[in-house]
Amino acid sequence: MPAQIISGIETAKSIREELAIEIADLKTRHGLVPGLVTILVGEDPASQSYVAAKNKTAHALGIHSEQVTLPAETSEAELLAIVGEYNANSAIHGILVQLPLPRHIDEAKVLFAIAPQKDVDGFHPVNVGKMMLGQQCYLPCTPHGILELLQRSGVETSGAEVVVVGRSNIVGKPIANLMLQKRAGGNATVTVCHTRTKDMDFHTRRADILIVAAGVPKMIKGNQVKPGAVVIDVGVNRIGQAENGKAVLAGDVDFQDVVDKVSAITPVPGGVGPMTITMLMKNTVQAARQAAGMI
Ligand code: NAP
Repeated sequence: MPAQIISGIETAKSIREELAIEIADLKTRHGLVPGLVTILVGEDPASQSYVAAKNKTAHALGIHSEQVTLPAETSEAELLAIVGEYNANSAIHGILVQLPLPRHIDEAKVLFAIAPQKDVDGFHPVNVGKMMLGQQCYLPCTPHGILELLQRSGVETSGAEVVVVGRSNIVGKPIANLMLQKRAGGNATVTVCHTRTKDMDFHTRRADILIVAAGVPKMIKGNQVKPGAVVIDVGVNRIGQAENGKAVLAGDVDFQDVVDKVSAITPVPGGVGPMTITMLMKNTVQAARQAAGMI
């Protein structure tokens, strides 16, 4: 049977439709407009395009969105002061500081300064801790998107051998933790691989669900996956430029080499990517509900 292509574009579209209805309802019945601010420091082109996409999506869904664009020379103190202002701004429920920040700014300090109840990226230690404890919190957007993709594609995680390649704070560690949680969408047996893993193939070949977030283009080949596995490719790697100037992207999985062996797989682009922004919107709506005492 051909592999199911798990489309992040389609899943994200369904979630956005649900969110648009919820946001319209919050507005008309409760006079509540979810508000998001994105703060960008510097002129990194990738960051600029991510922030623009976030604001465009927020706007399309009826979320009030503000964008603060600061020069690369902005001091840490100036940035912290701006975060403080938005912490106190009742029209703003979610604050997103686009990473990476220029080197002279301590990222951890800035993320810690965001009020945990407005931390819609889910990077504040309070939210990370709550996630670990299985408590209500903002889940980081990319792992949250992977959970939704698996659940909405009908992939059973309970009792599954899940292997995660990568242990970053934004993808690998949180998705491993979420797969482990004692609740629906979790209950998996989880292994995490990284650059010091002795025999990575041994692990990837026994994965019922293989989640790859390494940042190495096409590193996972067909002979490294178990027949019938579900493969989630988080990687987004620019491997060239098309004639129209657009970046040519590849995942961390060699799609062509793997697709005939597996039962389901996410493409790149169009897999996990579209889910990340959508989950940011979902978290912003959750933040607005929470601020209004509705959760
Ligand atoms: P990261 O911070 O660079 O972490 C990469 C992880 O992969 C590290 O833990 C590293 O191990 C491990 N790794 C690298 N090469 C490996 C190898 N050959 N064998 C085994 N493990 C290896 O990356 P990230 O931020 O998690 O991002 C990973 C990928 O996902 C990137 O392509 C990124 O662009 C993409 N991404 C996509 C989205 C989205 O929305 N679709 C969101 C976030 C990230 P060590 O810890 O030992 O160094």
